[in-house]
Amino acid sequence: MKDEEKALIAAWSDHSRMWKDNKWVYPVISRRAGGLSVGVNLNPDHHCTFSCAYCQSGPQENHKPVPIDVEAVERELRDFIAFYESGDYKDCAFFKDIPAEKKLLKDLCLSGDGESTIVKEFPEICRRMRNIQKDLTPSAGPFKLRLITNGSRLGNDAVEQGLGYLLEENGEIWAKLDAGTEEWFKKINRSPLHLEKILANLETAIKRYPLCIQTMLCDIQGQVPSESEIGSYIENLKKIHGTNPGNFVEVQLYTVIRHTLLPDVTPLPTEFLQAVASRITAEIPVKVRIF
Ligand code: SF4
Repeated sequence: MKDEEKALIAAWSDHSRMWKDNKWVYPVISRRAGGLSVGVNLNPDHHCTFSCAYCQSGPQENHKPVPIDVEAVERELRDFIAFYESGDYKDCAFFKDIPAEKKLLKDLCLSGDGESTIVKEFPEICRRMRNIQKDLTPSAGPFKLRLITNGSRLGNDAVEQGLGYLLEENGEIWAKLDAGTEEWFKKINRSPLHLEKILANLETAIKRYPLCIQTMLCDIQGQVPSESEIGSYIENLKKIHGTNPGNFVEVQLYTVIRHTLLPDVTPLPTEFLQAVASRITAEIPVKVRIF
């Protein structure tokens, strides 16, 4: 294997949220984004509305609340982008051996150790990210603004206000949908909310915004999604897609790769994911990618 390939695989596997002395902003080389993704973690306290069996962000308990420093978030974003634009980043240890085309800036992405839409500063952070995009698009290229979310707070007034800024131009929501039935939803996402509410939120969101669905397929302590569970999941996808096909970006299927919140949550074989992908594309005209 060439050094470039090794570096790329190492970078794909490295999802640590640490970059120099930063507290909020971290770069990753993202397979899904297709290049450099600059993440914004608004949840160093791991606060989330779900408690997914497969959560790979580390334990949710025993974190003190962390107040959001909006100025610091913006400063870290602008500093990293200035570093990117200077060209110096290409030679720093983190990026040095990554192929040139894989380290092009693809997005600024709200994706943290919890649910970004929970924080009350969400609208203001979105507004500032959009300002950065406006300021920098000509020199840095047409990067996207993205929200990665579990979908639980889509439709909330403050969240909608934030999305109005964030998704004004070249923006996308990447939202989680892991279940076809309430039973599997409770098992995998372990939220006090109901699947019906999440589905309603996703249908509302796709009316206005480009939406990508991200789905985790895994073995939870010896239980895997059954044939009929997958069938119900595809029915859910159909409803979301049917609401506004033009805004349906794609489905991303993935499995566990790191340490999980619950013990004995393990990956499913690629063949399982491929079989689910085939069932989806047989019923809905959508792109499905497997990670
Ligand atoms: S929604 Fe994300 S951060 Fe929240 S528990 Fe699930 S995997 Fe973890």
